[in-house]
Amino acid sequence: MSTPRPVVNLFDLNRSALEVFFESAVAKRYRAHQIMKWAYHRQELEFAAMTDVSKAHRAWLMDHASLRLPEVVTRQVSRDGTTKWVVRVANGNCVETVLIPDRGRNTLCVSSQVGCTLDCSFCATGKQGFNGNLSTADIIGQVWLAERELREKGENVSNVVLMGMGEPLLNLQAVLAATDLMTDDLAFGLSKRRVTVSTAGVVPGIYELAKHTDVSLAISLHAPNDALRDQLVPINKKYPIAELMEACRHYLSGLGNRRTLTIEYTLMRGVNDSLGHAKELAKLLEVLRCKINLIPFNPFPASGYERPHGREIRDFQTYLINAGYTTMLRTTRGEDIGAACGQLVGRVEDRTKRQERYLARVKAQEAA
Ligand code: SAH
Repeated sequence: MSTPRPVVNLFDLNRSALEVFFESAVAKRYRAHQIMKWAYHRQELEFAAMTDVSKAHRAWLMDHASLRLPEVVTRQVSRDGTTKWVVRVANGNCVETVLIPDRGRNTLCVSSQVGCTLDCSFCATGKQGFNGNLSTADIIGQVWLAERELREKGENVSNVVLMGMGEPLLNLQAVLAATDLMTDDLAFGLSKRRVTVSTAGVVPGIYELAKHTDVSLAISLHAPNDALRDQLVPINKKYPIAELMEACRHYLSGLGNRRTLTIEYTLMRGVNDSLGHAKELAKLLEVLRCKINLIPFNPFPASGYERPHGREIRDFQTYLINAGYTTMLRTTRGEDIGAACGQLVGRVEDRTKRQERYLARVKAQEAA
């Protein structure tokens, strides 16, 4: 048997990279556009079926390129209509993708890494440890798979949020090529406002993002001061709130002030949910043109946190609204299938020791 030759997965390339690929390989730049239409508009994965490409080029493609997607391992549908897929990505690990249908919108929450290195104290993904970055194909493939399923019902993915497993700004190269494809008319053609990159506060990544794209930015803030944020979001020790606010202002100043920013704030009972915190938050955000998304904490085993009561959540929200902020309360979706914010765990062959330590803690708590 001959060894298979290395092939390029065309889902790893954005439009400009595809143009370079075709220009250097077959001196036909426009092939990139043809192939994109086949791969994304018609969702055709077989080169043999691409009838407007010459026979010789089809044969060449079959030898040198592929269109490989993550493999769907499981698919679960929640009582509320939320769908969660577990997909196996190129490095053999599994990540989760969640589709949230809501009033005519289909928002897809995609993962960007296998696990996460940041270990925010209240997030289940961090407890799984980490096993590498997703490729562009792994990321855009999640959109492709959801889109195929929706098209069968005459619908489409209308919004993409990079709020699944992982920290997108620590996998910036792959994420940027994927967001290019999400917003490219030859691929998914979503408007930049409908693609959101969410970060726990990787400040240099925000400046890099600002150089390359105009997609919407979400900041997982969760605390109005450094003392508290250091505990909840450890990367705050490296990039404290003042630096993060400055990076946000920089991002917002691009595109003639037309970029959008959302501040995410997960409410944890007795931790960050008092009116004093709301007041401090309102003051902190005065300098930023942003809206606020409140997320009631979603529990997972041995998390050590609780969701505040409805009354406390409403009071927190009302304070911010009265202070002049557009403040949305994110309704919890897909909780029965472990698909809510902060519940995504996938199947991570952990390279750190974190998963082991977490599981020991869960066991100890169950035994107690
Ligand atoms: N690493 C990026 C992308 C993940 S987004 C980021 O931090 O922004 C996932 C969102 O859900 C983040 O805002 C995260 O802070 C929030 N989250 C994490 N765990 C949660 C939990 N248990 N309950 C509610 N929200 C949670």
